[in-house]
Amino acid sequence: MDFTLNEEQMAIRDTCREFTEQEIKPLAEVMDRTGAFPYVLVRQMGELGLLGLPFPEEYGGAGADFLSYCIAIEEISRGDVSVGITMEAHTSLGASPFYLFGSEKQKEQYLPPLARGEQLWAFGLTEPGAGSDSGGSQTRAILRDGHWHINGSKSFITNAGTDMTGGVTITAITGKRTDGRNEITNIIIPKNTPGYIIGNPYKKMAWKASDTRPLTFEDCVVPEGDTLGGPGDGFQQFMHILVGGRVAIAALSVGLAQACLDEALKYAKERKQFGQPISKFQAIQFKLADMDTEIELARLMYYKAAWLQMQGKPFSREASMAKLFASETAKRAADQAVQIHGGYGFMDEYPVSRYWRSVKVNEIGEGTSEVQRMVIAKNLGC
Ligand SMILES: Cc1cc2nc3c(=O)[nH]c(=O)nc-3n(C[C@H](O)[C@H](O)[C@H](O)COP(=O)(O)OP(=O)(O)OC[C@H]3O[C@@H](n4cnc5c(N)ncnc54)[C@H](O)[C@@H]3O)c2cc1C
Repeated sequence: MDFTLNEEQMAIRDTCREFTEQEIKPLAEVMDRTGAFPYVLVRQMGELGLLGLPFPEEYGGAGADFLSYCIAIEEISRGDVSVGITMEAHTSLGASPFYLFGSEKQKEQYLPPLARGEQLWAFGLTEPGAGSDSGGSQTRAILRDGHWHINGSKSFITNAGTDMTGGVTITAITGKRTDGRNEITNIIIPKNTPGYIIGNPYKKMAWKASDTRPLTFEDCVVPEGDTLGGPGDGFQQFMHILVGGRVAIAALSVGLAQACLDEALKYAKERKQFGQPISKFQAIQFKLADMDTEIELARLMYYKAAWLQMQGKPFSREASMAKLFASETAKRAADQAVQIHGGYGFMDEYPVSRYWRSVKVNEIGEGTSEVQRMVIAKNLGC
């Protein structure tokens, strides 16, 4: 078993680490305070090729492997999770459906500006009444005169309303299957399509500089051909998209957990009580040791899930385990990082206060911890 990263993986990790240190970290506090979308950073990331990492060069991507992409997400999220989730939602949820399920014409049309980072794209699955039960969508598309007529709404959609957003791919009910269940289809909706209404950004607990919005469709009309695959392919497609996304969210959680450890260790070495740095107290050392151990384990879990994906093997169980464990590891790490900072950890001038707020949503987005446990239990035959 070889755990060594290859040269390309190390080069991508180092590029992202440098970018994070030099460009992202200095802006993290102000992004959290103002909630302003980080256009400058996102454009720089596009120029570095970070917004199209796992796509072939012929479509404007960097041709990197899936593990390199996940390592990049970890490193960027170590600097700021708003930037990390913007990159992840754009790549895993927005662009990859075109690459995985688009026709050649759709790939040529949509993928290059997304992979080059000139445009962002969103994926709209969640609805006001359909979250974990994502098959329970109510948004409907009816085929009339060669066009889909779409009515319904979507909730919590990342990257849906930035100035760089090109559009959204949504799930919609397009009919009934022979077994009586709803037929779900993924439909491409460019921004500025009449009847596609982008709501105001939500006010959020954290991830403040990422763009999250409700969407409404009122007699929104797109051509019949603007679907990914054929009618009824949508359910399998979004399940596939989510499995890959969970590995990337695990990497995002590891990045945030590592940031918690970095800050806690630095502070523990500086802060003196009872005449010595608090890092000399075994109670503090054990917290740091537990954080380091759990982070390493979570990292190995997402590496393994990514490796399985690259071997073309099933990886749904490992993706859920990695997402579940990494998000809960990050939560524990954020909690202990604040504890190690004492009262200062409660003050916004210290990054750990922001990390503590940021970490909760990792247990919710792209499948809650309960949903991950359901997937794992199903694999056990329950
Ligand atoms: C910041 C942010 C960004 C997001 N970005 C996107 C995006 O880009 N695109 C998109 O489509 N969605 C997005 N989402 C939506 C996200 O994927 C959903 O919030 C998530 O899947 C949970 O759905 P819900 O919020 O409706 O919760 P619900 O499904 O209503 O769950 C509520 C609670 O019930 C539990 N629960 C539900 N069913 C079961 C069950 N069968 N057994 C046990 N417990 C259960 C859940 O685990 C949870 O604890 C985003 C969400 C957030 C917060």
